Amino acid sequence: MKEYPIARPLISKTGERGVLGVLRSGCLSLGPKLEEFEYKFKKMVGTKYACAVSSGTAGLHLTMIAAGIGPGDEVITSPFSFIASSNAVLYVGAKPVFTDIDPVTYNMDPSKIEEKITPKTKAILVVHIFGQSAAMSPIIKIAKKHKLKIIEDACESILATYKGKNVGTFGESAVFAFYPNKQMTTGEGGMIVTNSKKIYKLCSSLRNQGRSSNIQWLDHKYLGYNYRMAEMNAALGISQLAILGSLIEKRRKVAKLYERYLQKFAGMVELPAVAKDNTHSWFVYVVRVKNPKIKRNNLIKLLAERGIATKPYLPSIHLFSFYKELTGHRKGDFPISEMISDTSLALPFYPGLGENDVKYICRNVVEVLNNYEKQIQK
Ligand SMILES: *Cc1c(COP(=O)(O)O)cnc(C)c1O
Repeated sequence: MKEYPIARPLISKTGERGVLGVLRSGCLSLGPKLEEFEYKFKKMVGTKYACAVSSGTAGLHLTMIAAGIGPGDEVITSPFSFIASSNAVLYVGAKPVFTDIDPVTYNMDPSKIEEKITPKTKAILVVHIFGQSAAMSPIIKIAKKHKLKIIEDACESILATYKGKNVGTFGESAVFAFYPNKQMTTGEGGMIVTNSKKIYKLCSSLRNQGRSSNIQWLDHKYLGYNYRMAEMNAALGISQLAILGSLIEKRRKVAKLYERYLQKFAGMVELPAVAKDNTHSWFVYVVRVKNPKIKRNNLIKLLAERGIATKPYLPSIHLFSFYKELTGHRKGDFPISEMISDTSLALPFYPGLGENDVKYICRNVVEVLNNYEKQIQK
C-alpha cells in the first residue's frame, strides 16, 4: 500500500552541505550563517530588518513585548489559527479577543472587527491563514481610525501577496515560521521582520537574554530569553531561501492538480478559493466536506486505513479546553470559524507529490466519500 504523509520537507544537497559545513566549522551559534540568513530574508520580504529566532512562537512572543502589550491590554485576533498566535498574547498577560472569519478565505472578517474594539484594545494580530493574506486594506483603515497597531502572524504565508505587496510588510512587525511542514524549513525556527530599528534592536536583545548589542559590556538591559537560532538551522534556512521560489511553484502545481481531479466532485467537497487581491503561497490544501451527515473524523480514519494521512485543519482556538476555561467561550460564539473547523480536511500536500500521487489520493477520497454516502442512505 502506498503511504502519504500530510507534509514532507524537501531539503537540497546544498542544504545538507551547508549544515555539515557549520558542524565542521566549530561555530555553532551566533555566527555568520545567522547574519547571512537574516540579510537574505529581509531582502526577499522587503523589510529593513530581520531577526531570526528559535521558533515562530518565540517570534510572536517578542513582537508582543516590542509592541508594549501587557496586562490589561486587549489584542484582536482570529480564532481560526494555530494556537501559537493567541498564546503569544497570553504570554505577555494580555487578553486575546477573537473575531469571526470570512467563510471563503478563512481569514479575519474585517466587517466584524470594529465591534470588538474597546478602550483596552492595543493591537490587531492579523493571521494570514493557509498561505493567503487577510484583507489588509480594510484592516489597516480600521487600525488607523482607532490608533491600533498591526502585527502580522505570517507564519503560514511566506511570499503570499495582497494587492502586489508581500505579507509581512503591512504591520509594525511580522513573524514567519520554519517548522518542517511550512513552505520552507529550518527544522525549528522563526523570523521577525520590521522596518523599525527600535523594534529590531529590542528583539535581537530579547532573544539573547536581554544582552546589550555591545557584547563587551555584558550588560543585561531587559528581562530576556534564550530564543536564539543555531547556526545549523540558519544554514539550512539559507539553502531553503535559495529554492523557495521553486518550492512554492511546486506547491502551486500540486494545488492545481488537486483542483483538476476534485472539481468534478464539487458537490461533495468544497475546494479552496483565492481572493481576487491575493496570490496564494499554499501552506496546506484544505477541502471542506459538504454533506453535514458525514462525520469528518470518521473520514480521516477511513482514509488512514488506505495509507492517506489527512487532518482536521484547524480546530477553533476558543474551543480548546484551556481557552474555554480562561475566556468563558463556548460553542456557537464564532459560528463560521466553528463550521470550517468541523468540516475541513487537509490532504497530503508537499512539493514531492506528482500527478499520479494526486490522482491516487483523489480517487480514494472520492471512493471513501461515495461509500460513506451510500451507507448513510441505507
Ligand atoms: C506554524 C505557526 C506558528 C509558529 O509555529 P512554531 O512551531 O512555533 O514555529 C504560528 N502561527 C501560525 C498560524 C502557524 O501556522
